[in-house]
Amino acid sequence: MRCMVVSVPLLIALLLFPQSAHQSQPAYEPIHRIDSQRKVVALTFDDGPDPKYTPLILETLHKNGVPATFFVLGAQVDRYPKVMQWIKKAGHEIGNHGYHHVDLNKLTEQEIYDEIKRAERSIYRTTGILSQYYRPPGGVMTHDVVNAVQSSGYDLIHWSVDPRDWSLERTASTIANSVKKNVTAGDIVLFHDGGLNQRQTLAALQDLITDLRARGYTFVTVSQLMDESK
Ligand SMILES: [Zn+2]
Repeated sequence: MRCMVVSVPLLIALLLFPQSAHQSQPAYEPIHRIDSQRKVVALTFDDGPDPKYTPLILETLHKNGVPATFFVLGAQVDRYPKVMQWIKKAGHEIGNHGYHHVDLNKLTEQEIYDEIKRAERSIYRTTGILSQYYRPPGGVMTHDVVNAVQSSGYDLIHWSVDPRDWSLERTASTIANSVKKNVTAGDIVLFHDGGLNQRQTLAALQDLITDLRARGYTFVTVSQLMDESK
């Protein structure tokens, strides 16, 4: 027993500062992009899986050999488990976007934590994958969000290029042009494969991939992007 008492402070120190010397950034600070010498860019898709548009987006990504990261909603995963499995089978990365697409400003820390964990269970049950990354709906950042994300063990991923593809006023060409104009090496681009306006997102995607490739960009998942910054 004495031995255990003595070791408690050490244990706490280890839990609080694991590998602190190697971490350039605390995990609870949202990552928007990374500084990279290489022309890498991460395409991300939120709010799916969607029964109609996710498979079409997967097809375009597959045709072009482009890996992406899908921040899925637990409720959509439970409704469309097959589509979720296709995302996994295609080799894309999967991130957690919560269970419902709710306004996190209205939730307590415990409720936000429960949202994250409930989505985690849906993703794990359907794919066997425990995602490492969480993206809060709407990018909402409050103390409660940060605390809940810290306790749930995720890294917070935001974005640096937002073509606002969810807006019904945006056409395929405005979406594509907005990305083409703003993208730089190390960026994370925000798209939606679920929601209201995915037809335009899908239509923008091929043009965008062709253009960025021609300009020397390589497409990577969020994990691969993080590796670039090490
Ligand atoms: Zn969303």
